[in-house]
Amino acid sequence: MNGVIGMTSLLLDHELSPESLDCVNVIRSSSNALLTIINDILDFSKIESGKLDLENEPFCLRDCVEEVLELLANQAAEKKIELMASIGPEVSEWISGDVTRTRQILLNLVSNAVKFTAQGEVVISAALRESESGENILYLVVRDTGIGITLKKIKDLFQPFTQVDSSTTRRFGGTGLGLAISKRLTELMGGSIWVTSEPRQGSVFHLKIPYRPAPAQKLPRAVPDDWRSKRILVVDDNQTNLRILTAHLDHWKLTSLAVSSGIEALEAMRKERWDAVLLDWHMPEMDGDQLALAVKQEFGNAAPPMIMLSSGTAFSKERFGNFENPLAAVLLKPVRRQQLQRTLAGVLNGLTDRRIARSTKTLDSNFARRVPLRILLAEDNPVNQKVAVRILERLGYRPDVVGNGLEVLEALRRQTYDMVLMDVHMPEMNGLDATRHIVITLSKNRPWITALTAGAMKENRDECIAAGVDDYLTKPINVQELQDGLVRCFRNFKARANEQELTVPIIRQA
Ligand code: ADP
Repeated sequence: MNGVIGMTSLLLDHELSPESLDCVNVIRSSSNALLTIINDILDFSKIESGKLDLENEPFCLRDCVEEVLELLANQAAEKKIELMASIGPEVSEWISGDVTRTRQILLNLVSNAVKFTAQGEVVISAALRESESGENILYLVVRDTGIGITLKKIKDLFQPFTQVDSSTTRRFGGTGLGLAISKRLTELMGGSIWVTSEPRQGSVFHLKIPYRPAPAQKLPRAVPDDWRSKRILVVDDNQTNLRILTAHLDHWKLTSLAVSSGIEALEAMRKERWDAVLLDWHMPEMDGDQLALAVKQEFGNAAPPMIMLSSGTAFSKERFGNFENPLAAVLLKPVRRQQLQRTLAGVLNGLTDRRIARSTKTLDSNFARRVPLRILLAEDNPVNQKVAVRILERLGYRPDVVGNGLEVLEALRRQTYDMVLMDVHMPEMNGLDATRHIVITLSKNRPWITALTAGAMKENRDECIAAGVDDYLTKPINVQELQDGLVRCFRNFKARANEQELTVPIIRQA
């Protein structure tokens, strides 16, 4: 799968005729579908055989939820569905549990919700409830406004290989395993999952799991004191989104007013002064662009800074660049809370950010110039080798390649590298043995080691970490994840190098 998916993403970066582009896109979506099926079946058999152990580590619930929304943002934008998250103020941002499996359950529920919804909205919400014995329980809900499920079908829904009717399989794909896996995972967590639904009105998947608040692992970004005196106008026709946005603003102690149309927004601006306006692009009658232009026309330089919220497809970069730009910033939906806070901080300080927050281009040939690294790739499988080398080359790197652990050690004797991308399963000497060897023999002078493996389970990761790797990436290689991994290596390598530079003069003095 790594070969198919990796090569496909490389092909997509070529100039292709429209017909070839079509073919490649079909290969890509089919291979992603196949990967889902394989992963589902593997997961399911692992759970059924009782071999699945859950992690219990602190993680940020908001990040987990926002990541799920981000993964499905394009799909939702294409269907013009609003995708939102609402986490109650009573819920601790950090909880203990298994982040991978929590994300998997939510991803499955939200991707079903998007799949079976033609218009309207999909919302994840989190709140606390009390159990019968008086303990707090984390209550997660995924609600959609889609086709719904009849009462008769609901009872079989969580059975493996079940789909509501076979015609939907043809139309929407899927294995019928997602909900069965979600149910088993939830039960392993000590929780329960159920659904309520009304045909043609939508479905609500409910999830209750034990609530284990954890101490924050990262300090939240501080809110400046003067935000208490700032006033923000929020304009969106979608009531859920208005509620969520004003909840964020309340959390930061900002004063806000929510209105649901461009006309009301203009009225509010005539009456009172605003420090910033958050406006949705996709609104009936007067859309975000029209409103922004109307504001500029009526108020000129006295117009408050405007932050546009837009979903990927509705808002093209070209158009944004072309019209005389009255906007202070554009944020792509679904907006992460932290991103909104950062943008507001910039705008309220009088800075404007004309960049669009999330870039779509994946392979940037200047990447290596910004993140320069000498890379050794250790991978025995020729197809995987080719995929990794091509992706790295597209990013501007010239990696050296070896085929097993012994060759890694040999290469490191000959030359210095900043990073080893280390496949785990290799003949002669595997990646973990090679890592152990490097850690012992080269100690502080060793390169950064990032393991590459198809094993996405916790045990696989634990094994890698125990062997001494610095980082961990799973195959099939995802270009974005690889880039993130390169950046992590670069930051840490620089940090180490700087440390050594600092110590040099002291040794000389001695
Ligand atoms: P898959 O989506 O892979 O087919 P699932 O176990 O996730 O398998 O879902 C089983 C079936 O339940 C789906 O095929 C669909 O018929 C129905 N279903 C799941 N979620 C929804 C939803 N949000 N709205 C309507 N039907 C749903």
